[in-house]
Amino acid sequence: MAKYLFVTGGVVSALGKGIAAASLGNLLKARGLNVVLQKFDPYLNVDPGTMSPFQHGEVFVLEDGAECDLDLGHYERFTDTNHDQHNNLTSGRVYETILSNERKGEYLGRTVQVIPHVTDEIKKRITMSAEKNPDIDVVITEIGGTVGDIESLPFLEAIRQFRLDMPWNDTASVHLTLVPYIPTAGEIKTKPTQHSVRELRGIGIQPDFLMCRTIQPIGKEARSKIALFCNLPKENVFDGTDAKSIYEVPLNLHAQNFDGLLCQRFGLETEEPDISSWERMVKVILNPTDTVRIAIVGKYVELKDAYKSISESFVHAGIPNHVAVDQVWVDSEELEASDVGERRMKEIFEDCHGILIPGGFGDRGIEGKISAIRFARTNNIPFFGICLGLQCAMIEIGRDMVDLEKACSAEFDPTAAHQVINLMEEQKKIKNMGGTMRLGSWPCHLKPGSRAYFSYGQLEIAERHRHRYEVNNDYRDRFEEAGVVFSGTSPDGGLVEIMELPTHPFFVGVQFHPELKSRPHRPHPLFKSFVAAAVEHQNMCREDEAQRQAETDTDDESKSSRSEA
Ligand code: GLN
Repeated sequence: MAKYLFVTGGVVSALGKGIAAASLGNLLKARGLNVVLQKFDPYLNVDPGTMSPFQHGEVFVLEDGAECDLDLGHYERFTDTNHDQHNNLTSGRVYETILSNERKGEYLGRTVQVIPHVTDEIKKRITMSAEKNPDIDVVITEIGGTVGDIESLPFLEAIRQFRLDMPWNDTASVHLTLVPYIPTAGEIKTKPTQHSVRELRGIGIQPDFLMCRTIQPIGKEARSKIALFCNLPKENVFDGTDAKSIYEVPLNLHAQNFDGLLCQRFGLETEEPDISSWERMVKVILNPTDTVRIAIVGKYVELKDAYKSISESFVHAGIPNHVAVDQVWVDSEELEASDVGERRMKEIFEDCHGILIPGGFGDRGIEGKISAIRFARTNNIPFFGICLGLQCAMIEIGRDMVDLEKACSAEFDPTAAHQVINLMEEQKKIKNMGGTMRLGSWPCHLKPGSRAYFSYGQLEIAERHRHRYEVNNDYRDRFEEAGVVFSGTSPDGGLVEIMELPTHPFFVGVQFHPELKSRPHRPHPLFKSFVAAAVEHQNMCREDEAQRQAETDTDDESKSSRSEA
């Protein structure tokens, strides 16, 4: 029988519930338990796939093609386990199921209501993963939003009922709250936490554990006060002081024996976890020997969550390269202004030793991305294009190297003369927007001897996708004649998955999203090679600079010795 842990949040949003849930999953896994994490979101979209990244951050895609909340990315990165479509539920999905059942007459004439029909459907989804896989020991379910929101009530009511239905030690609840530090008073305040727990208890859920998010350690006195007012033992009140790296959080929780107390609460007997390799990894992240700057040119740069997995992939890829990757966010529209000449580009990308163009939709900022690619290509700066990034690279090369002045993508200009990127055949008849792209894991065959092959070290790979457009096969020959190598294709050769320029130090575009499979212990091969190329470029620039400096010094010396003479 699986154990069920529920993670809720109060006071404010953005407390890092996803990281907390993922960190607990990480520790339980280190104790030898089989863990699955799931996110239940109260909004009415059926999944986040149709939402703008400005609304909801990145859409994380799973192996099976499910378009999910970005917290699923944290779950996979912290537990190194692939999840599936059942691990992300929204109110929209619940209602979609209920309304379709109702139309089929499955409720036998009864009035369909929030209680019991919506709550029953939610309860069914809580246990679904463990029912499918009897090896699962612990199911961690994170509830999106903040306690007190109208929308999350059915989820919390379902949890209340579920806990009542189950034996006491089969379920537990962790609540994250904010303990603000008031600088003028020089102290932290526990009142918002008391109110938030009161709210939760009003719904009928007494939390078993509290994780207090704060910028100042909470200290003994505040801990006792919180425990007393929130009706739980003080050992169960944990300090969640901001960490320097999210990967430190499991270590901080383990130092307070959160995982030990959790197992005790569930009556699970496990070994002490071996977290030494995680500790070593965190040590490398926190003590880089050097820094390399990489520019990310995108359209959603004001909201870092929009490119969460890319940012994390850089952290992972920095580990084997022993560097911290300083990510410089550049708004692609900024590169579109008519006065952005080569000089201004040099200023914008000053000290950047790599340029990455991430995925995206729509034509806003496209010409800026194309200019950035041209800058990277002609200045031998390592370039990595992801999905839309590959498509823009094809346009740039088409215009400059293949003599297709009007090269474009059908997505931005359906009437363009040379649509080097066009809609995939199976996309042409699709009308609905939700869940209809080419999604999830697809196999890819690599060309022996290519850069992609050397990065992966194997010929057959599989990567996750989320796109409607592809490289137009009608133009492939002309691109190859111009020097482009299509180094990754679908096994039948019909779809381009990777393109590269072998004459450039690192110029790689991929149609898939490598960032979705990067894990801290297993950085993605292409991110690893891209960061290595950026480090190499930086070293070369430093050598050039040192040589220039030496030449200027010799010049100065000879000038002064001549004047002395
Ligand atoms: N908009 C492009 C397409 O649909 C690229 C998608 C992406 O970058 N994820 O093909």
